[in-house]
Amino acid sequence: MRGGNSYLGSIGTTIFTVMSALAVEHKAINLGQGFPDTEGPADVLQAAADALKDSRNQYPPMPGVAELRQAVASANRRFYGLDVDWETEVTVTSGATEAIIASLMAVIDPGDEVVLIEPLYDTYVPVVRMLGAIPRFVRLRPPHWELPLAELANAFGSKTKAILFNSPMNPSGKVFTADDLGVIADLVARHDTYAICDEVYEHLIFDEVRHIPLMTLPGMRARTIRIGSAGKTFSLTGWKVGYVTACTALTPLVRKAHQNLTFTTAPNLQRAVAVGLAKDDAYFAALARDLQDRRDQLAAGLASVGLSVLPTHGTYFITTDFAPLGFNGDDVAFCRHITEHAGVAAIPVSAFYDQPDAPRHYARFAFCKRPDVLAEAIERLRRYFDA
Ligand code: PMP
Ligand code: GLN
Repeated sequence: MRGGNSYLGSIGTTIFTVMSALAVEHKAINLGQGFPDTEGPADVLQAAADALKDSRNQYPPMPGVAELRQAVASANRRFYGLDVDWETEVTVTSGATEAIIASLMAVIDPGDEVVLIEPLYDTYVPVVRMLGAIPRFVRLRPPHWELPLAELANAFGSKTKAILFNSPMNPSGKVFTADDLGVIADLVARHDTYAICDEVYEHLIFDEVRHIPLMTLPGMRARTIRIGSAGKTFSLTGWKVGYVTACTALTPLVRKAHQNLTFTTAPNLQRAVAVGLAKDDAYFAALARDLQDRRDQLAAGLASVGLSVLPTHGTYFITTDFAPLGFNGDDVAFCRHITEHAGVAAIPVSAFYDQPDAPRHYARFAFCKRPDVLAEAIERLRRYFDA
């Protein structure tokens, strides 16, 4: 047999699946893969259940049901003052994952370079490579995850077609500042390139920090593709409903990618997400406040166990430096070890880097869990490391 695709043959199963399986095997509390352990809002769930019974279960329109596209356009205006035409500038996808793939397909040709910022979500590099493009990496500097501006400028060149980045950022919890975004906007315009902005954690932000979509900066409206996810905004990660906002020139390309990837997304879930996006400001404020409380709970707990906790201003995640614990091994070994022996699963942060010289002393913990679950996880770690 000749074997299948050589690139896919060369990469492993995603770390999220690996660590979740290990957590199940060892009955560990899973603070690895980022998913809440409570249901999303009852009215959104009810809307999905009702919509399932309303006899509209055949293929929905390829770009997404009108209600949801209208809701995405309204949310763009409500939260960021963006003027978006729902008919020509919004596309619904099967999760942000499909949105990222469709957006990359929409702008890059084989041989193009794509600037990526490490640490990065683990689907970016495989997709860029499978499309025949070349990743150019820039690394944030822990512990404060500063963007090295000169290195970023150097990563842009005549072959650059796009930058793909994530803010608020998984796993670092960095929310890109107005200054960071200004520099990115300048480079994108100067090099006549596009920006694909993965903003799935747009509403999960803490400490009065503001999320600024790059799309709102001068000159960026026609160069930016903005991606959101109902999974994060409504704590329903299994639904896989994503949405893409892009100008009238780019949207047809995003849709042509989408029509060849999945074509459509479950219609009842789309209608329910439209109900969700219309929820009042109190919902979005409570979502962030509640998560911030849990961030504080887990951060304090992990610090009390002896880990060095890095600041996080958004997402579901805390990055910790486990060097102070004196563990003899890298981050993969540490995460496996605590899953197996302490009964708490985490994710090695080197999984968010492409190159072998990634930092290997950080572990990511998810705090999107019930307070009693977080308390039990901290107790397990304390018992293990105090013993
Ligand atoms: N981007 C980032 C940064 C993520 O953390 C996730 C989490 N799953 C996704 C994209 C994918 O979102 P979705 O589940 O909507 O495909
Ligand atoms: N985004 C989630 C995380 O970072 C996982 C998504 C997945 O498992 N594909 O944990």
